[in-house]
Parts: sequence; structure tokens; C-alpha cells
Amino acid sequence: MKMSKMFFQTMREFPSDAEVMSHKLLGRAGYIKKLTSGVYNYMPLMWRVLKKIETIVREEMDRAGAQELLMPFVQPKELWEESGRWEVYGKELMRLKDRHNRDMCLGPTHEEIITALARDVIKSYKQMPVNLYQIQSKFRDEVRPRYGLLRGREFIMKDAYSFGKTQEELDKEYDNMAKAYKRIFDRCGLETKMVQSDSGAIGGSVSHEFMVITDGDAGENDVFYCECDYSANSNHAVSKLPPAETDGAKYFNETKIMDTPNTHSIEELSAFLNIPSSIILKSLVYIIDKKPVIALIRADKNVEETKLMNAVGGIDIRIASSAEIAELMAEKGFDAVPGFIGPKGMNGVQIIADETVRDMKNFVVGINQTDKHLVGANLSDLPAIENYVDIRLVDAGDFCPVCGKPLKVTKGIEVGNIFQLGTKYSKPMNAVYLDENGKTQPYIMGCYGIGISRTAAAAVEAHYDEHGIKWPIAIAPYHVVIVPVNVKDELQMKTAEDMYEKLLAAGVEVVIDDRDERAGVKFKDADLIGFPFRVTVGKTITDGLVEFKVRETEDVTTVTPEVAIEKLLTILK
Ligand code: ATP
Ligand code: MG
Repeated sequence: MKMSKMFFQTMREFPSDAEVMSHKLLGRAGYIKKLTSGVYNYMPLMWRVLKKIETIVREEMDRAGAQELLMPFVQPKELWEESGRWEVYGKELMRLKDRHNRDMCLGPTHEEIITALARDVIKSYKQMPVNLYQIQSKFRDEVRPRYGLLRGREFIMKDAYSFGKTQEELDKEYDNMAKAYKRIFDRCGLETKMVQSDSGAIGGSVSHEFMVITDGDAGENDVFYCECDYSANSNHAVSKLPPAETDGAKYFNETKIMDTPNTHSIEELSAFLNIPSSIILKSLVYIIDKKPVIALIRADKNVEETKLMNAVGGIDIRIASSAEIAELMAEKGFDAVPGFIGPKGMNGVQIIADETVRDMKNFVVGINQTDKHLVGANLSDLPAIENYVDIRLVDAGDFCPVCGKPLKVTKGIEVGNIFQLGTKYSKPMNAVYLDENGKTQPYIMGCYGIGISRTAAAAVEAHYDEHGIKWPIAIAPYHVVIVPVNVKDELQMKTAEDMYEKLLAAGVEVVIDDRDERAGVKFKDADLIGFPFRVTVGKTITDGLVEFKVRETEDVTTVTPEVAIEKLLTILK
């Protein structure tokens, strides 16, 4: 490729809306051009990267025994009604109507379509196990599209779906996919951690995410992990707690209502009463699927919203606003402000108590009266709690649930996800086969996703410096750029062109920067774009020498053109 002909444009500035490095660099280096919020043009350079990732994914999926197909992007409502997701999938599902007023949606994922397809084809146990995948653009109308390709609205995904007869078959395929994923990300030059996770809107029980660990802002997930193998997304992580004071007997010798003026926060209340926050019971109001829910937890701990949402079986959660709390208070005949809310008297409101509440004694709790708390309270003073669930957000330093050592926390970018779906889709959609005894059975399914475009962006997050991108060789748009310093110098140009032809003939993906630009400009662009290798043909060519630069290490050597070619062919073999 001749740089003078390449359809690209590097920029002086980062895109104005870019907050994280991959968005900044991919924008500035001319890989992506925004069309509208969360929707990007993939420029030729970007497309080459994406195709390389796709090729690695295809090779490894095929090697793992999966078969590629391609399903439609536009999907009819009827199938989503069969699975029950038309109602429950939130606004991320882009719904539209066709000219006949029929409801359709843009595919955010394809469980419904593949299950319907399998139902038509897989009639007998003899046709399973089978794993089918596709690579395609998806659309999710994300609340906050941001970070460029990391969280787009239109993005490229590989999604695979397995069908089998038994849980054992699913376990085996799940493991097979986990191994394929590891190979895929390794080949892309990405170190990933496989962590336990919540199953989210797709549903099912067992699921794992593949996280690229990053210390940048781009990691939207907190990952808790331990020296032993345990690691989990914060939405799923559990821990053992260090011992804490949970009996307030030494502070309160009777149960009574006490004035606690202006204690709106836990800090203020514990300071006012001069007690540790672990003997305060915190009552929080959430809105889950539009209904208020009160969450109770020991006040030195925080609620993990996904866990709470799952405990209620909801799909949408947020903390209640002051206005909503005021409305709830009025409805129940109270007028307390936030900070003084409690479970008592909240008839008809669902109450979820965390495991930490179980052991609390002689504690402090709100009673829906402003500037007052009940102290020396016990569980018998509260409405009966039917069962305790873990809705607690793990803290770094809590103990590992497996080995008991302290947990650590880090940020991660989710590049892939594997789920055991079981019969979550096959049962409601009546997707069945005849088993060996001629009995109908629902398929046991799994699904496996990889964000192709997100993986490319995550690779940038993991590989850059102040000058630009440092692509891992396997997914770089080109392997090497040859830079003649002065295109008007005949010897320089001839040597550069000669090397270019030789490398092309040897199958190396090479670019020649034949633009009549200052050397500095070309070097800057080469670093920004992130070619893994640069060969500079400058004045030293009169001594028969060129400069060979490795982008990853910034290592520069002066060698003959032949040696430069040799080196490249050896490295790229
Ligand atoms: P997230 O939690 O980040 O919203 P998700 O868990 O909803 O993602 P999945 O349904 O598991 O996503 O989709 C499979 C893969 O698709 C993800 O692991 C991720 O790599 C990619 N992906 C999901 N949403 C986006 C997006 N908005 N932009 C780019 N890639 C995405
Ligand atoms: Mg996911």
C-alpha cells in the first residue's frame, strides 16, 4: 500500500468527545470516524484490524468444531414474544415498525433467532451436539454510548450458540469454548482473565467473562480476584467478612427511640452516637422495575445493585430519588426525609435483607421519623424477614470465599462472555428434539459472545504510549512501514521501493510512505498509527544502511536493507 493513496487522515487533536485512550488514538490516527452517537465508520486501517481479529476468531471457532452461519440482523417481534423478552428487554432493544405496521427490532443478540432455526432443523438427538456461530453487526441502543468502539450502539460481535442433550454435554462445550477464547485472546496479543459473572439480560445460571485488565479509565468492571484461582466481576463476587462488632449491647442497654438530629448520613449518625457503623442497620430505597424496594444492609457495607435486582427478579434498577422517597413516605403516612427511613410500617413494600443483617443485635435503625432512630433494636422489632440474601458489594481486603486470603480489586474491560443457558430459551420456545426413547426434550443450550470491535479497542488500551498505538503484530493493520526520508532523493526512493516490492512479494503487509512530507510528520504518523516495524531510508543509504525500528520496544538498529528484510521475514514467519 502506498501511503499517498491510503484513504485515511491523521489529526492534530484527539476527538473532542473522547475520554479514554483507545477512542482518542483510534480517532486521531484516522481509524474510525463517527457517524452519530455510538455509530462509527471503520476506515480501511480499522477494517484491516477488525478482519484480522475476525480471522483469528473464525480459525479458533472452526478448530473448536463450531460452524459459521449468518442470521438476519432485523428480527420480528413474534420470536421475542415467544421467549418472553419483548416485554423485558429494556430500551437497548431498538424497536421499529415495517410498512405493514409489524413490529421488528434490530438484533442486539440472536438467542431467539437461533433457537427458532434449530427448532426447524434439529429434530433428533443424533443431530447434537452442535455449535453455530456468526460474526455480524449488532445494535444496542445503549443509555450511554461512550469510549468509542468500547461501548458503541452499533458494534461487531461474534456470537455462538450450542445445542446439546445433557448438562454434561453443555459442560464439555462450555469448557471447549473457554479454551478457544483463551487461544483467541492470546493470539490477539491480549492477556485476559476469565472471571465469574452475573448472567444479566441473557439469563441462565453459570457464566464467565473474559476481561482485559487495565488501570486506565476504560475498564467499566470491577474484578475481584485472589492469589488462588478465584476471580469474579463485582456483580457476582462474594466474600467472607473480617470480624466486626455487630452487637450494640455495650452502647445501648434498652430499646428506645432516641433523638438523632441532623444525622442524614451513616457517618453523621455513627459520629453522633459514637458507635461503629457496623451496628447501624442501613435502609435504602431502590426503584426496581418501577416499584420501590427497601434494601437492608449492615451500614459499613454497600449494596451491589445487580445482586439486589436479581434477588427481586427484576431487570431494571436505580436508587430512588428524594422526591420518590417523599412520595413513598406520604403514601405510608410518614414524612421522614432520607437518612431516617426504616422498614417498619412499610406494608406492601418488598423488603430485601442482606446476609449481614442476620447477626446484628442491639442495633440502630431508622423508624421513618425525621431526626429520630430506634436504638438497641433487634430483628424482632422489625417486620419479619423471610429470608436473607447476599446483596453486598465486596470490598477489597474482604476474604476470598475459596481460600480465605484477602481479595484484591482491579478494573477490567469485558471482551468476551460465555453462558450456560440451559433450557431458558428452548423451553418457552418449545424447541425440542426426540431423544433415544422417542420422547421430546428441550435442547440444553449455551451461548458465547466476543466483541470484535471492542477487542480491537481493548488491544489499544493495553498497547500504547505517548506517541500512539503499539499494535500486537497479529492484529496490526500492516506489519511494516517503509519511510523514505526524502522522496525527491533518487537513491532513497529507489531503495525504499525496492524493499517494498521484495517484502510484498514475500507476503509481508507493507506500506511505503511515499508522501512528499517532512520526515518528522511521517515518523509521527507511523508511531501514531502503530505499525509494529518501521524501516527508514535516509542519508545513511549512501553507506548502504537503513534504520530498523521496533515500535513495541522503540529499539532502533542500523542495518543493510537485506538484513532489514531478513529480520522482518524471521519475525513474521
Ligand atoms: P456490557 O456488560 O459491557 O454492556 P454485555 O455483557 O451486555 O456487555 P454481551 O451480551 O455479553 O454484552 O455481549 C457479548 C460481547 O459483546 C461482550 O462481551 C462485549 O465484548 C461485546 N459488547 C457488548 N456490548 C457492546 C457495546 N455496546 N459495544 C461494543 N461491544 C459490546
Ligand atoms: Mg456480557
